[in-house]
Amino acid sequence: MAVYKCFKCGKKIQSNKLDARFICPFCNSKIFYKPRTHSRKLKAI
Ligand SMILES: [Zn+2]
Repeated sequence: MAVYKCFKCGKKIQSNKLDARFICPFCNSKIFYKPRTHSRKLKAI
């Protein structure tokens, strides 16, 4: 199951909740991106 993140409000939405239409239930945005599951931020010194 994929989890998407709303680009506008930043809420995580599961793909099964989005179903056929890709509209954010919180802000009705249609822009999503996939947050990386294993993202490690490297500190640049
Ligand atoms: Zn949203």
